[in-house]
Amino acid sequence: MNISSRIPPKIAIHSFTNKPWNLAECLDRYQKAGVPGISVWRNLIDPAEGGVGLEEAAKRIHDSGLSVPALVRGGFFPGTTAEARQNAIDLNRQYLDEARAIGAEMVVLVVGAVPGQALAESRKQVCDGIAALLPHADATGVKLAIEPLHPMYAADKSCVNRMAEAREICEALGHAKVGIAADVYHIWWDPDVEAELRLSAKQNTLFGFHICDWRVQTRHLLTDRGLMGDGCIDVSGFRRLVNEIGFEGFHEIEVFSEDYWARDQDEYLALILEREEACRPAN
Ligand code: ZN
Repeated sequence: MNISSRIPPKIAIHSFTNKPWNLAECLDRYQKAGVPGISVWRNLIDPAEGGVGLEEAAKRIHDSGLSVPALVRGGFFPGTTAEARQNAIDLNRQYLDEARAIGAEMVVLVVGAVPGQALAESRKQVCDGIAALLPHADATGVKLAIEPLHPMYAADKSCVNRMAEAREICEALGHAKVGIAADVYHIWWDPDVEAELRLSAKQNTLFGFHICDWRVQTRHLLTDRGLMGDGCIDVSGFRRLVNEIGFEGFHEIEVFSEDYWARDQDEYLALILEREEACRPAN
């Protein structure tokens, strides 16, 4: 028998993966299934988006005993006016407070981009925005994880598209609370991805690791992600690599999929766990 398959893995599920479930349902089902962690999307917290409110969310999450690798998501720093950029910084301060309240290790940053504004200028604004947050990251004890997004999102969601650009911001800021959330969906194609992951581990900036799959016939830019095994990413290879380079955080399952949201979510959770085990590396 393969011994490693009997060791409970350090996995977490992003709440948006089971979008039809509310916070109480996610916590209950994950807990019963033995999933030790949940990364919480803000829609489950923010009353404006149908969430239960911060105080209630914090209580429920705390009572569940589940670990929270991340609050998802902050960012969106670039803007064409100083006012817009300041608003983004203020919002992200609030997200750091929320993350602290729910016991999240980090806020994942989808850094943003402005259509028509040069990506280099946007990256500069991202760097400035994160710099402005550093005192509050220190005060809350919550980390900021820059998530490079696939270049198909460069127009309006992220001017940081490779590990290298995220690393450059980390290096420019040189702060222990600033690092990277590496999501295989966004970075699997990058010829430098292995070298950058190794460098990130060495620089202590590998904060988060997200897994899912890239469907070869992708039908939608946002809501057609595959579950591990549905597509062409060597998820097992990535998991082996991050283990090998000393990453000790959660392997966070994050899938946005209209197909899977339309299914019975209990059956889907069972499938998620089956696929997780199937791509669990031996190391
Ligand atoms: Zn992700």
